[in-house]
Amino acid sequence: MQENSTAARQLNFLEEIIEQGLNDGTYTSILTRFPPEPNGYLHIGHAKSICLNFGLAKKYGGKTNLRFDDTNPVKEDTEYVDSIQEDIRWLGFEWAGVHYASDYFEQLYEWACELIKKGLAYVDDQTLDEIRAGRGTVTSPGTNSPYRDRSVEENLDLFARMRAGEFEDGSKVLRAKIDMAHPNMMFRDPIMYRILHAEHHRTGNKWCIYPMYDYAHGQSDSIEHITHSICTLEFDIHRPLYDWFIAQLGIWPSHQYEFARLNINYTVMSKRKLLQLVKEHYVSGWDDPRMPTICGFRRRGYTPESIRAFCDRIGVAKRDNIIDYGLLEFSLREHLNTVAQRRMAVLDPVKVVIDNYPEGQTEMLTAVNNPECEADGVRQVPFSRELYIEREDFMEIAPSKKYFRMAIGQEVRLRYAYFVTAQSVEKDADGRITCIHCTYDPATRGGDAPDGRKVKGTIHWVSAQHAVDAEVRLFDRLFAVEAPDDVEEGHTFLENLNPDSLKVVSAKCEPSLADWQAESEHWKDGIARYQFERMGYFCVDRESTADHLVFNRTCTLKDSWAKANK
Ligand code: ATP
Ligand code: MG
Repeated sequence: MQENSTAARQLNFLEEIIEQGLNDGTYTSILTRFPPEPNGYLHIGHAKSICLNFGLAKKYGGKTNLRFDDTNPVKEDTEYVDSIQEDIRWLGFEWAGVHYASDYFEQLYEWACELIKKGLAYVDDQTLDEIRAGRGTVTSPGTNSPYRDRSVEENLDLFARMRAGEFEDGSKVLRAKIDMAHPNMMFRDPIMYRILHAEHHRTGNKWCIYPMYDYAHGQSDSIEHITHSICTLEFDIHRPLYDWFIAQLGIWPSHQYEFARLNINYTVMSKRKLLQLVKEHYVSGWDDPRMPTICGFRRRGYTPESIRAFCDRIGVAKRDNIIDYGLLEFSLREHLNTVAQRRMAVLDPVKVVIDNYPEGQTEMLTAVNNPECEADGVRQVPFSRELYIEREDFMEIAPSKKYFRMAIGQEVRLRYAYFVTAQSVEKDADGRITCIHCTYDPATRGGDAPDGRKVKGTIHWVSAQHAVDAEVRLFDRLFAVEAPDDVEEGHTFLENLNPDSLKVVSAKCEPSLADWQAESEHWKDGIARYQFERMGYFCVDRESTADHLVFNRTCTLKDSWAKANK
């Protein structure tokens, strides 16, 4: 289905570029790359980049490399390397090769020496502040460093000694020698290398100089013969420099193309901020189901199919915009609706006694597993004299003619079971209802009256003596405002956290939910997902054990986005 919709729509600008290059013979096959820095877990923005890079390659019979952009040892870790691979695979993609920028350190060093020899790079002894001040501004030219005219020999010697560890952090850098008055600030002798005596998660203490992004990225692309280096819009001003290094070195010509990054309302996406949420315990971890991380969405019960459909649906843009969170949920519901089995669970239980139902009797009633998929068949649900229903499904007195749920004297259908009519209630000392007494009509077994009499309300229920207990975690938005990053000076995005983003309740579930382990085997990622009728989509949390079942609410059934966008 998705293939059709992709084929039916117009080509996006990246597809146009690729098709043109394939048609005019610039290349015979394409190779893209996904280049995360292993300094955090992937978030939904990365999913967009992954779907794009892997998706384009797949569409045109090409391949995609996974490259870890590991040029900043201080913040990087193998924990992140592992999680990134797990998340990409979970999303449903497989890379052709896995590479590390650190694999290219030796080659990058040699190329830097080559640029020195060509008079295109020099060692600068200025401090970072002096360098910054010397760059000038957008409207005024910079000034040349006093070290700019060192001889090739001196530069080669100093650069070798930088590598050998003779100098302290921050005491020297290697800079490209371009033009301190260039209108593009990126060209004002950009820094290529800095000294950093830090242990790297892969190269250990082998290196104490590390290449900067602008010097490492394009050359890494070139080494791998990446045809389309796709990145987010903020890198467009880097592109001329990307091309400059490749041209000066005369190496394989990779090209960079930019698209608009994904922004979603009610969320933050910078890894720095996500790390802060984790480190300062605002959430339980990177995979807290409220996090916009891929592992957070996974634990929340999102499916890879729904995330891919979402990324496909938003397309690629050349201008920044903000996507409504509801669109993500729309894609999620659309998928879960077709694949999640229905079950009954009562999240806020109140007892119901059917006074005219035989005491001690249990009967099995037939319930449909998934109306969207006949092959999923039916199951038997036990029914007995004492049940639980949702507290919100009862009011002593119907508030209006439009109220169709249970009220005293108002007949309703118990899903798959019988018509029942509430007769009276019991209350505790505080006036809270503890039990609802009903009568049922035995002729309505299965949920229809032989005399053709209709009821407007159908509610779900669980037999009290057969119920399975479960902890249910009801999640809401992590942030209370649409743009949590928009804060006045002196304030932080943390002030925009939603204090009510997690509510935990004790639910009563139909007994088949005790078989969640068997259900989980039907899901590729081993996470059992269900629709609890009328309540939403739920998945089994990884903290569940044989005697303590935990569900996460993935989303409610209410679809605000589809309604608003009809
Ligand atoms: P952050 O700013 O969230 O820390 P980053 O851009 O520093 O993210 P990287 O690990 O460098 O994270 O990103 C890997 C790839 O994912 C890059 O090509 C980057 O452009 C892309 N990417 C990151 N965030 C988004 C986003 N919100 N939308 C689309 N692509 C993104
Ligand atoms: Mg980055």
